[in-house]
Amino acid sequence: MSQPWFSLAAIEDPLGVELYRDMITKVWNGQLRGSRPALTPQEVRLIMAFLDDAPISHQALIGRWTLRKRDEIRGSVRTASGCSVFQDRLFVYMCSSADAWSNYDAWVAELGALMMVRLLHWRESRGSSAMALGIGVREVDNGVEYTYLYTSGPVAVPADIRAHIEWKYGVANLAHGSNRPMTPGRNDPCPCGSRSKFKRCHGAPGRREA
Ligand SMILES: [Zn+2]
Repeated sequence: MSQPWFSLAAIEDPLGVELYRDMITKVWNGQLRGSRPALTPQEVRLIMAFLDDAPISHQALIGRWTLRKRDEIRGSVRTASGCSVFQDRLFVYMCSSADAWSNYDAWVAELGALMMVRLLHWRESRGSSAMALGIGVREVDNGVEYTYLYTSGPVAVPADIRAHIEWKYGVANLAHGSNRPMTPGRNDPCPCGSRSKFKRCHGAPGRREA
């Protein structure tokens, strides 16, 4: 097997092929930005096995969404996230321009927090635990960069981080495939992290943007 992570299903779909090719060349070959070490071969193998276990329709969905967002973020300042579910697997995607995060560690932390909070949403709405794969796409100087995070274990997320992520990305009900805005209590700390009360920060009249 010269290309052990190309599933037969994926190579029958052009979008699956492009997504996998990006993974192989940028992640497996360690072509990542800065001094951050590349994922280990074991981590890459886990991620690719995770994707291979999803049906081609689901892989194509992930590929389509990720590639579309990858194109959208070029040259613009914005973020987007999505998630999809297949059996006991949760796929979380986050796309952004580089300007939205001051450094790489902050970007990875945000993706990790998003993935952990979506896992909690999964448990709360479906009553079972899941494996999750987080895929992050970020605009960099000369193109875009992918980041992947994978977890199969139970998760714990500090309340303030959960509030921040839900405020920014919404509260997902993964049993119904819906996402609703998070509404903090007026006297709660503002989930933006300002340390002011919500009513004096983003809860003040005329101020709702995350
Ligand atoms: Zn605020």
